[in-house]
Amino acid sequence: MRYSRLLVPTVKEIPADAEATSHKLMIRAGICRRVASGTYTYLPLGQRCLLKIIAIVREEINRAGAQEILVPSLQPLELWEKTGRSTDYGETMFRLDDRHGKGNVLGPTAEEVFTYLAAGEINSYKQLPINLYQISPKFRDEFRPRFGVIRSREFIMKDAYSFDADPESLEKSYRAMYDAYCRIFTRCGLEYVIVEAESGEMGGSGSHQFTVPCESGEDTIVYTEDGSYAANLERAAVDPLPKEQAAGEIPTPQEVETPNVGTIEAVCEFLKTEPKDMIKTLVYAVEDEVVAALVRGDHELNPEKLTQTLGGAHADLADEATIERVTGAKVGFAGPIGVADKVSSLIIDHAVAAMAAGVTGANKTDCHTRNVMPGRDFPLEGDNVVVTDLRCAGEGDTHDGKKLLFKKGIEIGQVFKLGTKYSVKLGAKFLDEQGAEKPCLMGCYGIGINRILASAIELGNDDNGIIWPISIAPFEVLVTCVNQNEEDVAKAAESIYQQLLDSAVDVLLDDRALRGGIKFKDADLIGIPIRVTVGKRSLAEGKVEIKLRCESERQEVVVEEAADKVIAIVADLKEKLKV
Ligand code: ATP
Ligand code: MG
Repeated sequence: MRYSRLLVPTVKEIPADAEATSHKLMIRAGICRRVASGTYTYLPLGQRCLLKIIAIVREEINRAGAQEILVPSLQPLELWEKTGRSTDYGETMFRLDDRHGKGNVLGPTAEEVFTYLAAGEINSYKQLPINLYQISPKFRDEFRPRFGVIRSREFIMKDAYSFDADPESLEKSYRAMYDAYCRIFTRCGLEYVIVEAESGEMGGSGSHQFTVPCESGEDTIVYTEDGSYAANLERAAVDPLPKEQAAGEIPTPQEVETPNVGTIEAVCEFLKTEPKDMIKTLVYAVEDEVVAALVRGDHELNPEKLTQTLGGAHADLADEATIERVTGAKVGFAGPIGVADKVSSLIIDHAVAAMAAGVTGANKTDCHTRNVMPGRDFPLEGDNVVVTDLRCAGEGDTHDGKKLLFKKGIEIGQVFKLGTKYSVKLGAKFLDEQGAEKPCLMGCYGIGINRILASAIELGNDDNGIIWPISIAPFEVLVTCVNQNEEDVAKAAESIYQQLLDSAVDVLLDDRALRGGIKFKDADLIGIPIRVTVGKRSLAEGKVEIKLRCESERQEVVVEEAADKVIAIVADLKEKLKV
């Protein structure tokens, strides 16, 4: 490919909405352009990267034994209603009615459609195990699209779905995908960590998340220094805190007026107390029931842990009317005293159970209560009372007695054991060897193709631009002709370019009639791993220069040997990314 014919609109300006390094560089290097919030056009350099990533993903997923198919993005809402995810997915799901008034969704993922397919096509254990996948656009009306393509509203996902007859077989299918993911991300040149993850509303029994540690990530990885534990924030289990010892006897609860003071901060200010000495009471609607949850004022309730405690049920914060009905007070004044009798369950974080006493809402508008003692003033045991790990891990928390550390990261992929949630609801059943009908055991496995690209840039960049891993770089080699209007220089560059093309090297020739300085700046910005510089001065001595984008040294080689030398470097760089 010749640079003079290629659409690579590099720009100096950093777009105003770009926070992440990868986002800034993708715009500056002419990789993509924004169309609207969370939607992007990929220009030739970007599309070349995507295709290379897709090729690696496809090769490894095929190698793991899965079969590629393609299901529609336009999916009937009816299927999503059958699994209950039309409500669980909430506003993140794009919906549209067709001309006949039928509801449709633009698939944010495809468990429903794949399971529907399996329900129709699989009927015997002889057809199992089977793993089907696709690589296709997914649509999510994200609350806050940001970081360029990292959180966008349309993106490309590889999604695979396995169907097995028994748990041992599911374990094997899961492991095969897990191993394929390791190979894929290594081949894409990414440094990544694998953490335990919550299967949440996917409704399964085990999950791992693949995450690239970097500042622009919205995910938090929680780990112990010795590496014995790593999980994402949704999952990270924390040890119970030691029971607080009261200085003396706790006086009986005392109600105080707190007019219009509803938030934790405002109450602390007003009552001269601290968030850690307060108990937050949160009221949730879970299907037709109401549930109350207690966490300390300085802690954050972890919705995934709540879902797990509820056996996988989806919980939404209750509306004002429900809160008023249950607590007898306006929002902001809920408290635990007497609440266990009014809800179907009272779920208490173990840090609350460990408090000597705290300040809570009084279940009376404009009032709070001091000296509320867990176990004395509200129950820590009972038929509908659970004390459990309910909060997000935070500074100072431990796991198995070891201090937890925190790191930001980008989730690039996740694998789930789904169990029978979808197969039961959509009728994906098979007859086993004894002729008994059973639901398929499922797993699902997603990879964000665009996030691989952005993560590679997050990891590989410097002040001058992108530093691509060779496996997914838009081109492997850039031949920069410094003096395009000098015939012999142009000829030498052309000759090296042709030799590389003949050897199947993915090469770009910078044949633009521009100054060398501009070409070098662009070369650094677009980040092609190997640069061959053909210029008047060194050519006079029969030499050209070779430089790796990731190193500062350059080497001079005689012009006749340049192509062979480059071919060897390409092979060497590729070899390093093989697994
Ligand atoms: P997140 O927690 O970041 O919203 P998720 O857990 O909802 O992601 P999955 O449903 O597991 O995502 O989707 C599989 C993969 O698709 C993710 O691992 C990620 O790489 C990618 N992905 C998910 N949402 C987006 C998005 N809005 N933009 C780009 N890629 C995404
Ligand atoms: Mg995920």
